[in-house]
Amino acid sequence: NIPLANRVQEVTPSLSLEISAKAKAMKADGLDVCSLSAGEPDFNTPDHVIAAAKCALDEGKTRYGSAAGEGKLRSAIAQKLQTENNLPYSPNQVIVTNGGKYSLFNLMQALINPEDEVIIPSPYWLSYPEMVKLAAGTPVIVPTTAQQQYKITAQQLQDSITPRSKLFILNSPSNPTGAVYSREELTALADVIVKNDLWVVSDEIYEKILYDQAEHISIGSLNPEIFARTLVSSGFAKTYAMTGWRVGYLAGNQEIINAMISIQSHSTSNVCTFAQYGAIEALENPLSQDAIKEMLTAFTERRKMVLEILSTIPEVSCSEPYGAFYLFLDISKTGKTSFNFANEFLEEMQVATVPGIAFGNDSCIRLSYATDMTTLEKALERLTKFVQTA
Ligand code: PLP
Repeated sequence: NIPLANRVQEVTPSLSLEISAKAKAMKADGLDVCSLSAGEPDFNTPDHVIAAAKCALDEGKTRYGSAAGEGKLRSAIAQKLQTENNLPYSPNQVIVTNGGKYSLFNLMQALINPEDEVIIPSPYWLSYPEMVKLAAGTPVIVPTTAQQQYKITAQQLQDSITPRSKLFILNSPSNPTGAVYSREELTALADVIVKNDLWVVSDEIYEKILYDQAEHISIGSLNPEIFARTLVSSGFAKTYAMTGWRVGYLAGNQEIINAMISIQSHSTSNVCTFAQYGAIEALENPLSQDAIKEMLTAFTERRKMVLEILSTIPEVSCSEPYGAFYLFLDISKTGKTSFNFANEFLEEMQVATVPGIAFGNDSCIRLSYATDMTTLEKALERLTKFVQTA
């Protein structure tokens, strides 16, 4: 028995890792495994971004940089937030982090005290509650249903507030449900946040991956009061197929950003310098728009096909996703827990998915359509068979 730190005992081991390890082992054994568990685009980083990082290497951008991020990248991010999101931040109010994941982790470290409660609507991205616990805070989970398209209402937010509430985590478009909040819904949430003197961190990492007429609105753009209480978190992973580059960012109140820079200077230090030059190119080169369009065209086609096939399987249902590249499929009619469903689906049909319990909802499983059409078609055929025999 190794005497680990108490904080580690609080962290929930990742069920999704358990399933993906099993899927990998099955693949290694030569089985035809269809993986619908990916959390990343199945596209390569655009060539011009790779070229810019190579060029940065040749130019000797290989040394320690400022812990807050390269000045040029912070300016490019501030510019992007202004023109695309209507968020007027100065470059000093931006910190570049090791992915969107570390921007959120670092924020919890900078903002959350042991007495503090952090309000998280479920289904949630699985790292949020763990990050709160690692900062010794208390996650307060507010369940939402398919009937409300998995979006927390202003009333639910209001009802979950206590004198210890400090932060609300908003994720639109959402992983795992694909829900996208409308302007009206965000306005109602913003009123509650301002009235109760809360902070909100808006995780907008899927902002460009939208379908039909869905529109992405940054909650901080609604009015100056909510802007002052908003921290916006994002990154390059999903939009530019740069998951392995580990470049993310957070923008917000100057004092909070300064605290985060200080924490970063004692933890990760700067994000890989030449990766940051790739990120600058991703933002500034118009060719990126073509790459995004190509990816979106593929996601749109797959989403349509998957939704069509799913509508023919009466044993499952799903709320239509308007963003990201996931489907949150209700499997409750099968009578199985999400872990048993995902586990048996993998063992019996060789299809890897993620059990909904990992996202705080045991009635569902998450399918990712960030994979090719052939794999998707094969996986859905197997799903049809599986639920009929299950
Ligand atoms: N936020 C959400 C909702 C995500 O799904 C992810 C990645 O899966 C992240 C943040 C973090 O992404 P990264 O750290 O790769 O930038």
